[in-house]
Amino acid sequence: MAKLSKKWSWGRLLPGSWRLVATVDAADEVPLRLPRRGFVLVGSRQRPRWLAFDCPCRARHRVLATLDSAHSPHWNLGRTRKLTVWPSFDCRGPAGRCHYFIRDGRVLWISEKAWAK
Ligand SMILES: [Zn+2]
Repeated sequence: MAKLSKKWSWGRLLPGSWRLVATVDAADEVPLRLPRRGFVLVGSRQRPRWLAFDCPCRARHRVLATLDSAHSPHWNLGRTRKLTVWPSFDCRGPAGRCHYFIRDGRVLWISEKAWAK
């Protein structure tokens, strides 16, 4: 029954790292306002289909990433205490390119300069 959720307990996320704020049934039920470093799973905790959060950049635009392996590309959640997602996020926000990893609850920005020109 709850085998997977025992191993992968979001409740043990450490303070200060990204945290699960809600699990909803459909993407259009994701709250319009999310706290900083708060994320929402669409589907169920055991079988999430989408990951939604606000970009950690200043513009805080919404990012919606599919976790469904039938889609290409898709993202994967690490079964770790702190939020880990791969591959990286690379999107065009209102203020330019946002390219970063989320590893162990931390945002690792990939230098824009390394990719420019
Ligand atoms: Zn952004």
